[in-house]
Amino acid sequence: MKNKLTIAVDGFSSCGKSTFAKKIAAQMGYVFIDTGAMYRAVTLYAIDNGIIADGILDQQQLIERLDDIEISFRYNKHRGAADIYVNGDLAEGRIRTIEVSNYVSEVSSIGEVRRKLVAMQQQMGRDGGVVLDGRDIGTVVFPNAEIKIFMTADPMVRAQRRYKELQAKGDNATLEEVYQNVVARDEADQSRAISPLRKADDAIVLDNSYMTVEEQMEFFLKLYQQQCE
Ligand code: C5P
Repeated sequence: MKNKLTIAVDGFSSCGKSTFAKKIAAQMGYVFIDTGAMYRAVTLYAIDNGIIADGILDQQQLIERLDDIEISFRYNKHRGAADIYVNGDLAEGRIRTIEVSNYVSEVSSIGEVRRKLVAMQQQMGRDGGVVLDGRDIGTVVFPNAEIKIFMTADPMVRAQRRYKELQAKGDNATLEEVYQNVVARDEADQSRAISPLRKADDAIVLDNSYMTVEEQMEFFLKLYQQQCE
């Protein structure tokens, strides 16, 4: 097996993929790449620049403006993870609002958006030693990843987790709104024409509805040892 592996963590919305992927990266000394943050950053740009207005996304305008959107990451030692920047402006705190969540699946269904971000992800992860979380990592971005995990959890458990996170940030979205968004995004991500969310044939399923983060890490380490044998 290669020295520096590529680890793909895909799955449904709000399953704790980022928390899990970040932990794996810290344990392995690898770089963590949150690909969902990149789709959220493009969505935030569209909101900030009037490309999403009155509840409508102007797909053509977004496609025309794609070359103007520069996404970058900078490591934040306080968070122990990279913050995302859009055209040099810190976007980390603004990409996880319910407003962005409500449009991100539509933005991520646009082929041109996916092509731009997938190319960036492949470039960032080309030397291995990376853990990427997303929806299409094991199927499209890195189909040869050595370890592929597909995460799922009960939708209400996921909504409650996301609701608590939002509350902690002072966002006043209701549990019902968050639940509806989780279910709608699952549906949109699975049914889109390009790179729909699906488990790669060789991915291992992790249902973490009733698992602690420590139990999930035990699951990963077992999987890693099996791959090394
Ligand atoms: O992971 P997160 O929930 O932040 O992702 C936000 C949205 O970005 C997803 O609902 C999905 O529409 C899109 N996404 C995607 N492909 C990825 C990662 C995220 O389409 N690799």
